[in-house]
Amino acid sequence: MESAAVFAGLHPIPGHHNHLLGPSRTAIKLLPPSIDKINFSPLPLKFQKQSHFTSYIGNSAINSGNSFRVASPASDVASELADIDWDNLGFGFMPTDYMYSMKCSQGENFSKGELQRFGNIELSPSAGILNYGQGLFEGLKAYRKHDGNILLFRPEENATRLKMGAERMCMPSPSVEQFVEAVKATVLANERWIPPPGKGSLYIRPLLMGSGAVLGLAPAPEYTFLIYVSPVGNYFKEGLAPINLVVETEMHRATPGGTGGVKTIGNYAAVLKAQSAAKAKGYSDVLYLDCVQKKYLEEVSSCNVFIVKGNLIVTPAIKGTILPGITRKSIIDVAISQGFEVEERQVSVDELLDADEVFCTGTAVVVSPVGSITHQGRRVTYGNDGVGLVSQQLYSALTSLQMGLSEDKMGWIVELK
Ligand SMILES: *Cc1c(COP(=O)(O)O)cnc(C)c1O
Repeated sequence: MESAAVFAGLHPIPGHHNHLLGPSRTAIKLLPPSIDKINFSPLPLKFQKQSHFTSYIGNSAINSGNSFRVASPASDVASELADIDWDNLGFGFMPTDYMYSMKCSQGENFSKGELQRFGNIELSPSAGILNYGQGLFEGLKAYRKHDGNILLFRPEENATRLKMGAERMCMPSPSVEQFVEAVKATVLANERWIPPPGKGSLYIRPLLMGSGAVLGLAPAPEYTFLIYVSPVGNYFKEGLAPINLVVETEMHRATPGGTGGVKTIGNYAAVLKAQSAAKAKGYSDVLYLDCVQKKYLEEVSSCNVFIVKGNLIVTPAIKGTILPGITRKSIIDVAISQGFEVEERQVSVDELLDADEVFCTGTAVVVSPVGSITHQGRRVTYGNDGVGLVSQQLYSALTSLQMGLSEDKMGWIVELK
């Protein structure tokens, strides 16, 4: 049985430090590019005081407090790729050149952010995020196209979701426009880290956090919006690989009235225990049930779930306990456009076990077919070795759209060039 895991929709690839979201990932093996090789972006870049962070790139230059040489005329900036093995990209975190940072005080609006060299950040031990988990994250990808263009997929949806989450977590948030502009700037500044076409994508990780110091429980007095990026490989190198899920009947991911519907950081450490136990038994991840009736499907730790029966595709309705995935939403529209009937409603375990196909959706995997489901000791496998035809068809349709290989009739693609 597969011992791989889905985390933030990511399976580990053997031999790689895996997971964008994995707990306590340390010791990142990377090839620090020599400082001479860095092509700086032609964007106006501001560098923070060097003493506030260290970077992985060229220790000496970064920590000496010297300002950077801004090299390379704009003409050859885009052409040179980072010097890494693009054929063996995994899903581990790899530091890149720049990150984006923008701060604002409580009760104010974000106004001006800047690109900084990627590096550690300084926080008060009393920061709201560290003490009370006042934080949110987002996840999206940029693809490099054959014609040199760079594509984002529905970034305004991530922006909107972050705003909704910020409202729930009592935080100010960047406007949709600020978010999208910041994502674009960060991607362009790290352009040499975007994998060549077909080799993967640049995973973009925006964070919003209470960075100001608090002691008594209260919203933090200051907030930081940060974006970093990391190149990631193609999830499935040789066709779609099915995952094996176990239905969790004791622990719950979310509760009505809670925060399951927003991407707040606290939702994720809380599922590690169930996930680790499942992995120890050889499952890929856990499928959660509603905590009231313990009968209806919710989602996987970091992916949404769909079932297929004939021409009907069903996914649990969003009602506060399920994270409204952008891949979920997109797959619904793609499926409808391909003539499937799609329903968003309650889905019982019985219906799940009786389905023709089951698949999960999330930014990292796009579509991940489910090979088997185990519920209270009973294991049900799905046809075609767990890689259903509908899952395959939807995976191809959405990934070719995202990579710019098919016509964007939905208007979902944002081109950066
Ligand atoms: C991020 C996430 C998803 C998938 O959302 P996408 O926007 O499709 O990446 C699903 N469930 C949970 C719990 C998540 O955190």
